[in-house]
Amino acid sequence: MTGDGAVTARVGILGGGQLGRMLALAGYPLGLRVRVLDPGADAPAAHCAEHIRAAYDDAAALERLAAGMDAVTFEFENVPETAARALAARVPVHPPPAALARAQDRVSEKTLFAEHALAVPPWRAVDDRAGLARAIAEIGAPAVLKTRRMGYDGKGQAVLRAGDEAALDAAWRAVGGAPSILEAFVPFEREVSLIGVRAQDGACVFYPLVENVHRAGILHRSLAPAPGADALQPAAEAAMRRILDALAYVGVLTIEFFVHQGRLLGNEMAPRVHNSGHWTIEGAVTSQFENHLRAVVGLPLGSTAVNGAAAMVNLIGSIPAPAAVLAIPGAHLHLYGKASRPGRKVGHITVVAADARRLAEPLARVEALVG
Ligand code: AMP
Repeated sequence: MTGDGAVTARVGILGGGQLGRMLALAGYPLGLRVRVLDPGADAPAAHCAEHIRAAYDDAAALERLAAGMDAVTFEFENVPETAARALAARVPVHPPPAALARAQDRVSEKTLFAEHALAVPPWRAVDDRAGLARAIAEIGAPAVLKTRRMGYDGKGQAVLRAGDEAALDAAWRAVGGAPSILEAFVPFEREVSLIGVRAQDGACVFYPLVENVHRAGILHRSLAPAPGADALQPAAEAAMRRILDALAYVGVLTIEFFVHQGRLLGNEMAPRVHNSGHWTIEGAVTSQFENHLRAVVGLPLGSTAVNGAAAMVNLIGSIPAPAAVLAIPGAHLHLYGKASRPGRKVGHITVVAADARRLAEPLARVEALVG
């Protein structure tokens, strides 16, 4: 650590989106200095961190990102693994690049879950159109075809309601003929996610399971703690703990699960802070952003206890009048400094209340504003 009194440590981040912005903001009170690498001119993190504007595979830019840093992390998992490995040769990179690689490929992600006794929906790797026909014959319809790599927020996915040739052709076109996996469609009761943090000494903390509702593949709302999910918490934590330890992981890890017939099925993981943890800024004693930074720079982790109950609603494509949002008791507005465009996450609202019962009314008002 830098230890010069004024600055606790310097952290480089691959990616300068809203997650990088919220990391930088969480770093300020701790005396952390943040530098981000992001190709975008309007990177949201650039408003509150030093910004190197360059491609993720620009070797000179990666050198500049690492220079003088105590550690480097990432806030975006589609950065090339080679970039993370190049950085790791110069400076500690947390989470480990191997975790990035496992999360970037849905086949290796599902295999990782299975290796650590986390059940997953039935799936098959699909390399070509003939492979898709074989996979649907084995899995059956309905099923979901997803690209193995570079998918996020429901992009690169197609639901197959039937297994006929026309449906297979349409799904194969929808994923651009890219290597994919076919998963059984899970008629889940609900979706939940677990955010955990592992420190450099192996200590782990976990936030309570959060219930997530998606719209068109994009997270719409998170409720924390997930109502009635206490019974699922130990199994979720145990599975994540096995994965964290196996990867010698440092930082925040997120696993998204389907709850099906009362059991957890692993859907996907994100080796980074996550949208379903934004509520922790106001709703938990220590936010996911602060805890991630603490882990990355080798500080003790903070309490994940919840301050009552919280809900987070994403602002996608448009922003309601700030005054209307802030007139709602317990509501907090977060804007990412991004131009509004359909389907784009431009901000979120978190509502906190003393308990779930008292959260219902202000949350309904937030939902009415967001539409
Ligand atoms: P993903 O990118 O894999 O998280 O998928 C985005 C969303 O699509 C999930 O959060 C679910 O709401 C839905 N989804 C994905 N896979 C499945 C599945 N196998 N069965 C049912 N719904 C799914």
